[in-house]
Amino acid sequence: MMARNQINKNNQEDGRLDFSVRLMEHLVVPTFVLDADCRVLIWNRACERLTGVRASEVIGTREHWRGFYDAPRPCLADLIALGRTEEIDALYADHDHAGEDAVTAHGRRAENWCVMPQVGTRLYLAIDAGPIYDESGTLVAVVETLRDMTVQKEAQAELERLATRDGLTGIANRRCFDDTLNTEWRRASRESRALSLLMIDVDYFKRFNDTYGHQGGDECLRQVAAAMSGVVKRASDAVARYGGEEFSVLMPATEPEGALLVAERIRAAVEALRLPHSGSEVANHVTISIGVASAHATNAGMPAGLVAAADAALYRAKHEGRNRAVLAAPLDGISA
Ligand code: GH3
Ligand code: MG
Ligand code: MG
Repeated sequence: MMARNQINKNNQEDGRLDFSVRLMEHLVVPTFVLDADCRVLIWNRACERLTGVRASEVIGTREHWRGFYDAPRPCLADLIALGRTEEIDALYADHDHAGEDAVTAHGRRAENWCVMPQVGTRLYLAIDAGPIYDESGTLVAVVETLRDMTVQKEAQAELERLATRDGLTGIANRRCFDDTLNTEWRRASRESRALSLLMIDVDYFKRFNDTYGHQGGDECLRQVAAAMSGVVKRASDAVARYGGEEFSVLMPATEPEGALLVAERIRAAVEALRLPHSGSEVANHVTISIGVASAHATNAGMPAGLVAAADAALYRAKHEGRNRAVLAAPLDGISA
């Protein structure tokens, strides 16, 4: 028979355990706990609210994934319980990069877009999962806490989008163009493929503003940008507002002949808008001039050389009468 003080001690411990479980039940942070066998021990109220899955549906099962995903897959707590943290990278949109020691001590943190099949709205969740060991160092449970970061994630995505878009026309801005040019230059160099660039300038645009006002000018730029975007179809082609009334189109894996063909289509599309321009000396509607340059990127050349070549061709297009596309001479040292 157990001694009376031993029974008291056990009762006290049971009481504390009950209390801890109830605390966790009512914790405002969505939390669930798995045992070492990946079965749900605790699924608190906040977790029920977040997932739309009742504790009674999952306690004692390994069905907790149903709260987050529409097909079976391990959750972060499972990966920790199973010692399979090397799979985090493949299964999550983002995660910490803790070494194995840190995992044992603090658990892991990851973020993911979750389908949330019961609530029916996709959520971006920040997830922390930490192991719990007994005195002998044996894993007894893993606690997973969740935070809904959807609003922050969407705001961040919108900020990133705004940082790369031109406010007036909605196409890529100069900063985005510079980044894309550098990336595509390196890619073209790696893959030994041609990279083509169009530099585009609206003809007599100063006079357009003088005649139709700056608001009229802005509307014209919007329409020109939309017409250019409509012509450029390949996903890798990048239309950008280079500055003022100048635009650029970057075309990876495109030879000079192809680039000149696209340039001519863009020129024709803008002309087809038939935007009245009484101040122009080449037509009675808005026209553009285009410089076309193409390079086989190698270590010998720099992306700035491609821009300079397209600029020089644009200058020639202006001098040769505007409303035309001119192909640059092959680039020194980096030409095809
Ligand atoms: P050219 O045919 O030689 O290109 O003649 P241009 O008058 O277009 O000459 P240039 O390209 O040097 O002129 C650019 C003008 O475009 C200057 C400015 O009045 C106008 N411009 C530049 N950015 C904007 C803008 O964002 N909105 C408006 N409305 N006008 C702009
Ligand atoms: Mg200009
Ligand atoms: Mg101009």
